[in-house]
Amino acid sequence: MRMARFLPPSALLLAACAAFSGCMSRRPDVILIVIDTLRNDELPWMGADPRFAPNLGRLAHEGVVFPRTYAPSPWTKPSTTTILTGLHPYRHGVNGHDDKLDASVQTIAEVFSAAGYQTAAVVSNPSLYDGGTRQGFEVFREVGRWIEHSTDRVAAQARDVIARASGERPLFLYVHFLDPHDKYVPPAQDRLFLPEGYTPQGPEVLTGDMRHFEGDTPVWKPTSFDFTPTPIPLQPLDLAYMRGLYRGELHAADRHLQAILDSQRIGRGNPLLSVVTADHGEAFYEHGMPRHGWTLHEEVLRVPLLFHGAPLQGRSLDGSRIARSMDILPTILDLVHVKDSEERDGVSLAQPPPEGGSVVQGLTCYHVQKESFIIEDPYKLIIDERFGRNELYDLQADPHETRNLAFSQPARVASMVARQQKIRDDLLSRKFATAKLEGEELRQHEEALKSLGYIK
Ligand SMILES: [Zn+2]
Repeated sequence: MRMARFLPPSALLLAACAAFSGCMSRRPDVILIVIDTLRNDELPWMGADPRFAPNLGRLAHEGVVFPRTYAPSPWTKPSTTTILTGLHPYRHGVNGHDDKLDASVQTIAEVFSAAGYQTAAVVSNPSLYDGGTRQGFEVFREVGRWIEHSTDRVAAQARDVIARASGERPLFLYVHFLDPHDKYVPPAQDRLFLPEGYTPQGPEVLTGDMRHFEGDTPVWKPTSFDFTPTPIPLQPLDLAYMRGLYRGELHAADRHLQAILDSQRIGRGNPLLSVVTADHGEAFYEHGMPRHGWTLHEEVLRVPLLFHGAPLQGRSLDGSRIARSMDILPTILDLVHVKDSEERDGVSLAQPPPEGGSVVQGLTCYHVQKESFIIEDPYKLIIDERFGRNELYDLQADPHETRNLAFSQPARVASMVARQQKIRDDLLSRKFATAKLEGEELRQHEEALKSLGYIK
């Protein structure tokens, strides 16, 4: 026993398991971590500075990453609902601020619950406190009603959930970090990536208040049909300062994420499947706007996706294929051998891709925008349904979407528009009914949106 003192915690667990027959066959715990507003190209597998997210870098090295993963929408509610249902936003229908998921949809929490799992969520984005996110969770903890830094409290709550979880049943835990969503206010120890020797003059930059620079956006209220936002420009050093703050919040999320995974490893005997993703990315003026929700370019649609842990052993996952947020639920269930009776739009990434590959498409209905996109690799088409205005990009030759080919390739545009409409109509024909938040539920929701700055 003296030897055991010098073993790392994982070895101790293995030793304990070996002495306890049946332990090694325990069903895996699953921890799904969604990091709000985290764009994919801030991560080491995309060539970013590995100091931004060292723990994610290590997890990626040991696990499987899908560097080309697309969210179906550039804002929280539709995208997160897709992650939790495996359904396209056209089908789950949660596309407006006051939409509510139909109770008949089987969420990932309900599937795990039916399979004998205990289910818990720790969520820190107030726009997810209703509308269907909590459907099926035995435990649903809300962390904060304001866009202050909350990652440390999310991690503390998640660790508490893990500590209190029963040893009798496996655990499915969904954790939603709000950071690096604006305002970008990292803790002092994570302010590592600011431009050296520069102190901004403006209070909005100092406090990471990126919403201020969106300009006079309608926020939540509907506006005229032809509304186009006019952002406030940021000079290069101020923009670099904002980006540094954003990276500081990523660094904090990375630190706390590791602490959550460690507490599972130390505290529970079950093997663990960890899944890390984001609901959408974040723009820094690449196509005119800061933040997210306004465009369908790569900076807001490309999200991280990584799988890590023992359930990957013996499985074949090809990270070079395109993945979509709606593939996350089928993949998780497949990896831990949990049966699902619902018809999902996504597919398991642990199975060979469907013939012809997966179609990637999505939309934003944020505020007044009515835009959609479709990808026929390497081409991506963004369709502005209000003005009949299209943007066509060759993502291989032009990954930053700087050259619009729509005028030079009208036949390709026409065929992609037709395909997008066909897919959309098919999904809409099988759409679930959606309810609207009403009464006290709506009042609470509007309070939450005010706290996020979505209602002025
Ligand atoms: Zn979000």
